[in-house]
Amino acid sequence: MLKKLIRFFSNNKTEEQTSEPHTLSPGEHAIKPGDISKGAATVVRVLEEKGFQAYVVGGCVRDLLLDLHPKDFDVATNATPEEVKPLFRRARIIGRRFRIVHVHIGREMVEVTTFRANHTEDDGRGALRSDEGRLLRDNTYGDITEDASRRDFTINALYYHPGDNTLFDYANGLRDIEKRQLRVIGDPETRFREDPVRMLRAVRFAAKLGFAIEPDTARAIHQLAPLLADIPPARLFDEFLKLFLSGHGLATFNLLRQYGLFASLFPQTEPHLEDQEGFALHFVEQALINTDQRIRTNKRVTPAFLLAALLWPPVEERRRELEAGGEPPPIALNKAAGKIISVQVGRIAIPRRFSQPMREIWELQLRLPKRHGKRAEHLVSLPRFRAGYDFVLLREQAGENLDDLGLWWTRYQEADEEKRQAMVRELGGNGGRKKRRRRPRKKPAGDTQTQ
Ligand code: ATP
Ligand code: MG
Repeated sequence: MLKKLIRFFSNNKTEEQTSEPHTLSPGEHAIKPGDISKGAATVVRVLEEKGFQAYVVGGCVRDLLLDLHPKDFDVATNATPEEVKPLFRRARIIGRRFRIVHVHIGREMVEVTTFRANHTEDDGRGALRSDEGRLLRDNTYGDITEDASRRDFTINALYYHPGDNTLFDYANGLRDIEKRQLRVIGDPETRFREDPVRMLRAVRFAAKLGFAIEPDTARAIHQLAPLLADIPPARLFDEFLKLFLSGHGLATFNLLRQYGLFASLFPQTEPHLEDQEGFALHFVEQALINTDQRIRTNKRVTPAFLLAALLWPPVEERRRELEAGGEPPPIALNKAAGKIISVQVGRIAIPRRFSQPMREIWELQLRLPKRHGKRAEHLVSLPRFRAGYDFVLLREQAGENLDDLGLWWTRYQEADEEKRQAMVRELGGNGGRKKRRRRPRKKPAGDTQTQ
């Protein structure tokens, strides 16, 4: 990484908000025009041909300086969304709070954002604030300097011009890359009040990049974490995906808890995690370890599985309470699931295409122990079987004793027809169900009673 930051410290400035950028010409930084995706390079070129300014900006520049592979490329321009759209065959204006253009080039999608001003009050043009200082709409356009100062972190305010291979650092982002720290541009409290989601972004970048959060920025997060409660649940669902399904879920989870942000996202789960040695914490950590591992090895991950895991501790607790009150297990589970999900969607809007599979994964936890007769054959054919089985393995991995249920299902899936039948026969009379503690009964071998 250091090789990418040659010689800029000689004119290092002390303020993170600058009007004049540090300019690094070719040779003073190690980004090459060829590092920029074809789509982003095309977007910049087309905009410039039409007389607009355009730069590659944000996370992709940051990631290239850190020798990481950018997830996608963003372009910033002085062209308005209405001016950008007609220049490209496949372009769409999206967003209301924050209007941007999605330009599709080949299989790539480039986000094109118009330079925005950092305004301090409702200006009657494109900005709107809530009483708490939250920006409800942010469509006041400005110049590149203003655009740089309204960005969230210093390391995200780096602009690169592929045409002349020049890098512009407006907020001392290179210094902070060097120091491996995340620092808000401007006053942290004001900036987090404007948009509390920036606190989640701070944690996400710190986890992904292994950066420290600079002390003033960190203090403001501790103080303002509860403001996340004001964010619409639909936006938090999008953030949830980025936080937990980007390959650094465990590190992100630990930081979220450290800063008091996790409780705002999962208020029902947090109280279960307080016991350092408890099952719930091990279980959630293990779920995140497995998810990170799957992402690293390019395996599919579904938000439903992870959400099912994150909400399992409160669902289990509620189910047990209902059972203790006399509800039969499936009904208790169904009611518990309904209750926990309905509270959760008040924080994070979980689309039904995920909440339904979550319920099925939980239901399978009751059904997978019951393997007698034709049940095993039926269960293994269910579309949600694999997720339910993985969930059993996860519970066992986290230390729950399920009488080797996971191992049984592993063998069953590997077995041929004959062996499968033998396995079911070997379960004996109770169908593999865990023996009840209160009324232990010895059943004769071969008893075919089903449950
Ligand atoms: P990645 O794409 O790797 O998650 P990124 O930094 O590119 O990281 P994006 O969400 O793609 O993040 O945003 C692109 C850029 O837009 C950011 O680098 C930042 O400069 C700016 N930005 C995004 N969200 C905000 C926000 N809530 N407040 C201020 N600036 C933001
Ligand atoms: Mg990006």
